[in-house]
Order: sequence, then C-alpha cells, then structure tokens
Amino acid sequence: MTANEYIKQHFGRSMDACTNEEIYEGLLLYVKEKAKEKESSQGKKKLYYISAEFLIGKLLSNNLINLGLYDEVRQELEQCGKSLAQIEEIEQEPSLGNGGLGRLAACFLDSVATLGLNGDGVGLNYHFGLFCQVFENNLQKEEPNPWITPQSWLTRTERTYKVHFGGFWVQSRMYDIDVVGYENRTTKLHLFDVESVDESLVHDGIQFDKTQIAKNLTLFLYPDDSDEDGRLLRVYQQYFMVSNAARLILDECVQKGSNLYDLPDYAVIQINDTHPTMVIPELVRLLMERGLSIDEAIDVVSKTCAYTNHTILAEALERWPMHFMQQAVPQLVPIIYELNNKVNKKYQDPAVAVIDNADCVCMAHIDIHYGISVNGVAALHTEILKDTELNHFYKIYPEKFNNKTNGITFRRWLLYCNPPLASFIEGLIGPGFKKDAMQLERLSSYINDDAALEKLLAIKDERKAVLCEYLKATQNMDIDANSIFDIQVKRLHEYKRQQLNALYVIHKYFEIKSGKLPQRPITVFFGAKAAPAYTIAKDIIHLILCLSQLIAADPQVSPYLKVVMVENYNVTLAEKMIPACDISEQISLASKEASGTGNMKFMLNGAVTLGTMDGANVEIAELVGEDNIFTFGASSQTVIERYKQGDYKSKTYYEEDEDLRQAVDFIVSDTMKEVGSSEQLERLYHELLEKDWFMTFPDYQDYIAVKDQALAAYEDRKAWAKRMLVNISKAGFFSADRTIRQYNDEIWKLETGEA
Ligand SMILES: *Cc1c(COP(=O)(O)O)cnc(C)c1O
Repeated sequence: MTANEYIKQHFGRSMDACTNEEIYEGLLLYVKEKAKEKESSQGKKKLYYISAEFLIGKLLSNNLINLGLYDEVRQELEQCGKSLAQIEEIEQEPSLGNGGLGRLAACFLDSVATLGLNGDGVGLNYHFGLFCQVFENNLQKEEPNPWITPQSWLTRTERTYKVHFGGFWVQSRMYDIDVVGYENRTTKLHLFDVESVDESLVHDGIQFDKTQIAKNLTLFLYPDDSDEDGRLLRVYQQYFMVSNAARLILDECVQKGSNLYDLPDYAVIQINDTHPTMVIPELVRLLMERGLSIDEAIDVVSKTCAYTNHTILAEALERWPMHFMQQAVPQLVPIIYELNNKVNKKYQDPAVAVIDNADCVCMAHIDIHYGISVNGVAALHTEILKDTELNHFYKIYPEKFNNKTNGITFRRWLLYCNPPLASFIEGLIGPGFKKDAMQLERLSSYINDDAALEKLLAIKDERKAVLCEYLKATQNMDIDANSIFDIQVKRLHEYKRQQLNALYVIHKYFEIKSGKLPQRPITVFFGAKAAPAYTIAKDIIHLILCLSQLIAADPQVSPYLKVVMVENYNVTLAEKMIPACDISEQISLASKEASGTGNMKFMLNGAVTLGTMDGANVEIAELVGEDNIFTFGASSQTVIERYKQGDYKSKTYYEEDEDLRQAVDFIVSDTMKEVGSSEQLERLYHELLEKDWFMTFPDYQDYIAVKDQALAAYEDRKAWAKRMLVNISKAGFFSADRTIRQYNDEIWKLETGEA
C-alpha cells in the first residue's frame, strides 16, 4: 500500500483533499505501520543503552529514508502540489536532550538498528523536554517546549511498574518509539513516564513546584538545579529511570531463560554518562529480592554494566549528598554503603572511594569499580582520563579503560540534511558509501577534477541560499548569501568559548571602523542555549545579541560584517545550518571538549574546521592533514600544566596586549550599554578580567591570526574546494556505524545481524 492509499483508507479522501496536518498524521501512522513490518533483531544477549537524554530530532523524513520510502512519498506529495518540507513543519521536534550527549545516544540507536544488533534504548518521557529559547531585549527567556501531540511517535505499552521512593510510590508506564535502521531492522526506544504527571503544574515560563514529585517527575529534562529542590528532583528522576530499566531488563532476561546468575550472558548495560549510575545498586537490590546474596548480586551486576565518560570538567562529575539518597531512595543506601565498604577494604585510597569525605556519593566511582569497561569518547579525551582525571582508577584497572571515538549517523547528517551533496557523491562513487562510510575515501581521486570541484562549490552556494530563505521565513533575518558563513552552533558554555568568537567580532568591528575592510563580507552565526541558571553563559548570549544589533545598525560596518544569533538552536536548525557552513568553529579550550560531534557533522558537509587541538578535532586534523584544517591555540598539555600551576592571570594578558584590551573594554563601553544592560555587560567584563577560567586571553591573538588566514584562504576558490573535498572524503571514520561496531566488538559482544 502506498502512503496515498493508506491516507485514503484512513481519512476517506486522498492526499490532495487533506490539510497538511492530516497528511502529517497520515504519514506518521503509515510509517508506524511500515516499521512494524521490520522485525527487531532477536538473540540471546541484548544491549540496554540507558541514557537520560535521547535528542532524536524530528522523525518523519529520517524514518522514510531508512525505510526506503522517501522518494516515493515525496513524489506522491509533489503530485498533489505539496512538499515534504511543508509537512515536516507540522512535526514538533522532541527535545529530549541538551546537546551532544543526547544527540550521540540518538545516533547510536540508529546505528544499532542499522547494524541489526539486538539492543534498545531506555530513558524518560519528558513532556516538555529542554526549554524553548526566545530572545527578548537581547536576553534569553525560557518557555516550555511541548512535543507530545495526540498523534505522536510514542506507542503506549502495557508495561507498568510501581516505583518506590522514601515515603511514597508512583506508577510508571512505558512508551515506545520505533527506531528504524537504514534498510534493516528496527530497535526500540523505551521512554518511561509517571501516570500521575500533571502538566498544569507549570507556570511563568518553566517554573513549577519542585517538591511535588509524583506530579512533576517527567515534566522537564534536567530541571534547574541551582537550588536544592531542583537537585533532589534530579535524583528522583534518575532513580525512576533506572528502576524501570532494571525491572525491564530482569523481566526480559528471565523470560528468555536466564537464572539471574547468568545475567551477563543475556544483558549488557551501557551507562551513558553518570546519570544512570543508580542502575547498579538498583539491580543489586532487585537481584537480592529474587534470592541472590549481596556478594553474588554485586558480582553479577559488575559483569553486566559498562560506563561511558563524557567529560573531564570536575563540576560535571556527579556527586550526590548521602542525605539526598536517604530521603529519595533509602532502599539503596545500605547497598551503596556495601559498595563503598568493598572498595575501602581493597584500596586504602580516599581518591577512589564511593563515598567521599563530604559524605557524597561519587557516581562515576561506582561505575568504574562495578563495571566491565570505562570508555572515553575521543582518543585525546581517553588519554587525559588515563593520565590525569581518572589516573587513580587507571592504575587499578588498566584493562577496563578503552577509547570509542564518537560518531554520527550519516543517514540524518548527510542523506537527509543535504540531498544535493549526497547525490553528487553518489554520482561520483556510487551508493556504497551509504552503508560503508569508508568508501567516501574514493572521492579523493577527484581532487584535480575541476568540474567536480566547481560542482561542490555550487552545492555549497545553493545550501547557503536555502538557509537564508529559511531564516528569513522563520526568524525574519536578512543574510547575504554571498558572504562567508562562519558558524558556531552548540550549547553555550564558557569552555566552548563563544566569548572568544565574540571578541573576534569586536576586533573585526574596530578594523572595519578604521578602514581595514575584509575582502568579502563575513557572517558570523551563533546558535546556543544556556542552562537557565548559568549566569555567565546568559551574559555571553547577551553580549552576542547586543553586538548583532549594534553592528546591524552601523552603516559603516554592516556591509562587511554581520552577527546572526539564531533563536532556539535545535536539531532541526542544525540540519539546515550545517550544510550551509564554510568555516566550522570548534574553539573549545584544549583538553576541555571530550569529543564534540558537531565538528564531525560540519566536516561531512564540506565545511573546513577552525579549531583547537581538542577532542575529536585532533583526529580530524590527523585525517585531513594540516593543509585542510586551521588549528590554533595552546595545546592540551600546556593548558593542563597551566591549571596545575594555578598561576594564570588574565589581567596580565589584558595589560600587555593593546588590541585585546580595546576589545575587552568595548564590552562595557557606552556604545554597548546603549543597546545592552550594564549589569550583564559589567559582570561578563569582570569575569573575563578577573577569572577567565577557560583561558580565552592566551589564545586570542593566535585565534585572530588563524581565522584571518582561513578567511583569506577562502578567496582561492579552487584550493578551498579541494579542502572541502578532502574533509568529506575523510569523514567516513566518524560514522556512528564504525563507533557502534567497536562498542560491540570490544564491549558488548552481541551477535551481529547485518542484512
Ligand atoms: C550535534 C549537536 C550538538 C553537539 O554539538 P557540539 O558542537 O559537538 O557540542 C548539539 N546540539 C545539537 C542540536 C546537535 O545536533
């Protein structure tokens, strides 16, 4: 049955007589039916990928592509005068993640399904996901972001559990989303919800009563944790997620014949960052309920769990006060004490204890002691974990440590988001790259093919024009499609250093004012949400929005420089912006970005990276060679050494560098204060001058010099096109299919079922 026939059957009339909303609903149901026909992979052993975030993005088009129905449906729509793009506008993006970590989990499920592995995702069904960002008076405001419509990708299941907390319990229910692999099987994303959730609790933006756990548990992803109630709520959320996951796992394994002592033959649990860590004590508890001794239970669980570390930022390694545990999950407390005792008996080193001197539970320490594997997410990151951050653990368990460099799904980040580029590649090297990304290497034989290079430039120009149209229509922006598109889109965090990019903008502003004009206009794009309680991050957004307004209103500067801060950066916007990018800004302070995945998406779409030697940028640089990437800044070694010395003073750089001083002072100038708020600008200024914790000043001059080199290099169009081609041809390594194969070969050891 075609989509049109299905819609006719469902609505009693064909597509051309339906509204866009009806067509969307019809296609959604059609895709759900089609996905049912694709069986999930079976097999004795199964992966459970537990993650607090799955940033899946819109699903309609991606599922159509993976089901092989995209072209057919597009043509059917065109026949009745509609476009798939119009229908996609109806779909709400589920924002069940903050950024890279959640997007990684989504890419991984796509690859698990595509490779035909037996594995499901487990997470939470947040009703409002991450907040929706709006700008008012050059400030970020947060609004709820509802995505669950009457017809959605969620399928209600009959699986429910009673989950107990200190003093009360809630009833859970599991909802499923089918994850469709590319021309292969499906897997499931299981999202647990509380039956008693109450959306009417939300008021004044994203405020709600944080103490009414039974009603608020699944309202938002990571509620504001600046206060104690917010932090406690996170503990409730995490326990709710893993208690359901643990019960699901045990039920499925017992059903398949496990006697529980052999659980590791039936299940492997990947713990995505520390948020799901309580699955370890919870499984121990449940196994004890089912008759195992505590030692037996701990032994079984330790052979079943594996942990992925995503950060070396100390403040991001979760430590929960013991009294939180006592209040929220008292049933886990004796087990956590036992996990701590076992460690202390073996190793008299407080650095590796489960409970620290401040009576906090170190979640990562549980994962490392009681799991089979600890992996970092890029080569440099894993080395830093071994040498510094987790060195105490590496000395105890060298065999547990391994690297799994992140990857992205090429279905969404090439086939779907950039069809002209995908068909151009297919025209040159055939369709094999869609399943075997390493075949992109074959593009390198076109490095001296002028026609191919010109076509590549033409595709980029077209994508830039498409982005301009989209931003005009959705955010009323006027952007010069012939300018250089320099893009930094990612969560706002000081370590990612949007502030460094903003300082460059100020520097350029002064250059233009003084008559030094760029060869070609530059558009500097930003897109970033700041955590609602992260004051300095919000101040940086304020700075960028003020610069944008000020420059746009200055006729001397605006023909040459434009700052664009898109509102509510999310997966949908990423899919439009990344194909249009010339220069990919990956400028985190070396050693601080664990991997990055945005960098990979840009590379795959023919952008050239301007970046520090951090995270997976290091591997990108190795693959493309130094001629095809622009790198700058202090090395991770230097940075780690600077922190160790503890004598970094940003003021010294400020005092010794006149150009830097001019840029920094401009933040609090009268010109800026005319468009911005003194409070925010002053606060940011003082932060930079007195702390600059992520060391923007030492990298400032190098950044300016190398960015200007990149802009100049852009003018030799043929040489630039060669760089683009090299970047695309070397991107195959960053396919999530490669990453998932490595997880499976080295950690999970599931049967493979590639079709
Ligand atoms: C890929 C992606 C990210 C991660 O970007 P990084 O540059 O790796 O931090 C964040 N948000 C969205 C919407 C993404 O698609």
